[in-house]
Amino acid sequence: MPGENLTRIEAQERRAVVDPTAGMSYEIALDLNRGAEVFGSRTTLRFAATPGADTFIDLIARDVREITLNGRSIDPATAFADSRIALSGLEAQNELIVDADCLYTNTGEGLHRFVDPVDGEVYLYSQFEVPDSRRVFAVFEQPDLKATFQFTVTAPEQWKVVSNSPTPAPQRHGDGTATWTFEPTPTISSYITALVAGPYEATFSELTSASGRVIPLGVYARKSLWQHLDADYVFDKTREGFAYFEEKFDYPYPFAKYDQLFVPEFNAGAMENAGAVTFTETYVFRSKVTDAVKERRVVTILHELAHMWFGDLVTMRWWNDLWLNESFAEWASTMATAEATEWTEAWTTFNAMEKTWAYRQ
Ligand SMILES: [Zn+2]
Repeated sequence: MPGENLTRIEAQERRAVVDPTAGMSYEIALDLNRGAEVFGSRTTLRFAATPGADTFIDLIARDVREITLNGRSIDPATAFADSRIALSGLEAQNELIVDADCLYTNTGEGLHRFVDPVDGEVYLYSQFEVPDSRRVFAVFEQPDLKATFQFTVTAPEQWKVVSNSPTPAPQRHGDGTATWTFEPTPTISSYITALVAGPYEATFSELTSASGRVIPLGVYARKSLWQHLDADYVFDKTREGFAYFEEKFDYPYPFAKYDQLFVPEFNAGAMENAGAVTFTETYVFRSKVTDAVKERRVVTILHELAHMWFGDLVTMRWWNDLWLNESFAEWASTMATAEATEWTEAWTTFNAMEKTWAYRQ
């Protein structure tokens, strides 16, 4: 009875059965037009495995309507238990389809749903670390089973819909809804996939990568906070960080675009979703703030940007190495802040804050 737990040993056993190096792909269709409680989630997963072996896939859902493995129907009543779906009799190449109703959350885990008290608008965003993408789709929820993720999202047509890949033009259905069909991501871990959807305000810019490629930039916040957001400054710091990291890491930015989204009721400072970074709204300054807070926001912007290389492009095998992922991002962002921005005393702040914190621990 594992409940919602997944141990490192179980992940290692599953990694011995499922082979991501042969190419693994998710197609995930989400229907956000089913009211305030649930959304539709249909996953089609293609993966290689050891023939004859058994394993399981992770999913936290209210109801599972359909499970089909290699054309064979599996009864959810027997196969779906303890936030897992049992998969038996695997073949060398497999196709799994899981159709479910998943629950919105209000805890900042999975797909968070927020209703703005100012204007009644609905805002959604995902938060999947650690490990909550299984609250949105059926997934081998461990960082060393990387795959491509292709999202198709149906939502109110006036919404903005943002994921890891650039937002495509929506297909309107004529009934107030529309469908956004995203390009597949590069091969990444499930915990850095993302979906942000709602009537967000946005502004756009771009920069030229060291590779010569033009990288579209976006900054988003909910409508009722938009007047307070200094998006031009966020773009300026992002540009400084791109130039600095591309030179120091000697590796061009690895994703198609870079959106930064300030989202409501966010539990942490920010999250490094590939190409779709989410930030706490406390970084949207509604009144005068101290220089310490302004500097901290720049360090956070550059921390998440550093993760695009260290964490997203190169990823720890298991969560016990998050310490290195986070320490490296904090080191890289503090150095970038001191050397590439106007906050040249960033190491002094680091000494007063993080280093003293570490000594206390
Ligand atoms: Zn981090």
